[in-house]
Amino acid sequence: MKKHNFYAGPSILTPYTIQKTADAVLNFADTGLSILEVSHRSKEFQAVIDEAAALTKELLQLPEGYHVLFLGGGASTQFCMVPYNLLNKKAAYMNTGTWATNAIKEAKLFGEVEVVASSEDKKFTYIPKDYVIPTDAEYFHYTSNNTIYGTKFWELPNTKGHELVADVSSCFLSEPVDVTKYGVIYGGVQKNVGPSGVQIIIVREDLIADGPALKCTPTMMDWKIQAENESLYNTPPCYGIYVCGKVFKWIKKIGGLEAMKAHNEKKAKILYDFLDSSKMFKGTVEPKDRSLMNVPFITGDEELDKKFVAESKAAGFENLKGHRTVGGMRASIYNAMPIEGVEKLVAFMKKFEEENTK
Ligand SMILES: *Cc1c(COP(=O)(O)O)cnc(C)c1O
Repeated sequence: MKKHNFYAGPSILTPYTIQKTADAVLNFADTGLSILEVSHRSKEFQAVIDEAAALTKELLQLPEGYHVLFLGGGASTQFCMVPYNLLNKKAAYMNTGTWATNAIKEAKLFGEVEVVASSEDKKFTYIPKDYVIPTDAEYFHYTSNNTIYGTKFWELPNTKGHELVADVSSCFLSEPVDVTKYGVIYGGVQKNVGPSGVQIIIVREDLIADGPALKCTPTMMDWKIQAENESLYNTPPCYGIYVCGKVFKWIKKIGGLEAMKAHNEKKAKILYDFLDSSKMFKGTVEPKDRSLMNVPFITGDEELDKKFVAESKAAGFENLKGHRTVGGMRASIYNAMPIEGVEKLVAFMKKFEEENTK
C-alpha cells in the first residue's frame, strides 16, 4: 500500500533525497566507501559541507556577514546556546507554545527573561498581536511556526531595533525569508530539510565577533568557535549534513524558495478550504494565524477523532494523530509532501464524513 507520510518530525523526505542518500550509503562520491564510514576531514566530506553551506546561502540569498553552521544536536540545543552567546542581562521572549516555553525555561537559567506575550489563554491557537518589547532587552526570541498548534507568524514582530532571534525548525526553507531582519535564525532540520541529529544556525558575524556573552560558555556552545572552525571543531553529523545537502539541491531544482512557497500554499489551501466547508471537521487555529506546515483539526467528538485516526492509518495515512498534549488530529504537510498526498487526504476525509454522518 502506498503510504502518505504526515509525521510531524522526523518527517517526509522526497524520493530524490532518499535515493541519493541510499546511493551514498553504498558508495559515496565514488570513494568505494559508505558516507557512514568516511572521515569528516576527508576532501570528499569537505565538499559535502561546503556545498550544503553554499546552497543554504544561495537559496536564502544570504548577504555577506552571516555564518551558516551545521552542528550536532537539535533546536533544543539552541535554547541554551542562544542565551550563552547573547544574553548579558535581559532578553524578551514570546510564548506561543511548548517549544517557546522550553526556550524560555532555558534562557531563565542565564539571566532575566521578560515574556512579552503569551497565547496560553486560548491553548496557543493564535499569535499574540499587541505587546511591547522592553527597551533594555538585548534580543527578542520567537518561534516562527508552532509545529504542535499549527500557528504561524505572518508578520515579523516589530522589534523596535532589538535583535531578532527566531526558531524556524518547522518552516525552514518553506518560503523566502529576508534574513537581514534577523540576528539569528536556527532550527533542527528534521521537520523540513533533513533527518534528525543536525541543527542549522545562521548568525550575523558582528554578534559573535567578541565571543559569547557569558564568559563561562563551554567550547561546544560557543558560536564563535563553531564559526571559526566552519562547523568542524569536532566531528559533525556527517551523514545528516549529506542528506540536508540533497534536500537543498532538490529545492533548487524545483525553482528555489519562491517555488517552494507556491507549492506549500497550494497544498495548505486544499486542506483549509476543505476544513472550512466541512460540517464534521474543523481547524482549531484562528484563520489569520494558520500555518502552511502543520494543520491541526478536530471533529468535536473525541470518539470520532479516534475512529478517524485509526481508519486513516489503515488506509495508508501515516500519523494524523494530534500531538499528545493537544489531541485531535494534525496533518504535517512539509516541503516534501506532494500535492497528491493532500488531495488523497481530503478525499479520504470527505468519504469518512459521508460514512459517519447520520
Ligand atoms: C521540533 C521542534 C523543536 C525541537 O527540536 P529538537 O531538534 O527535537 O530539539 C523546537 N522548535 C520547534 C519549532 C520544533 O518544531
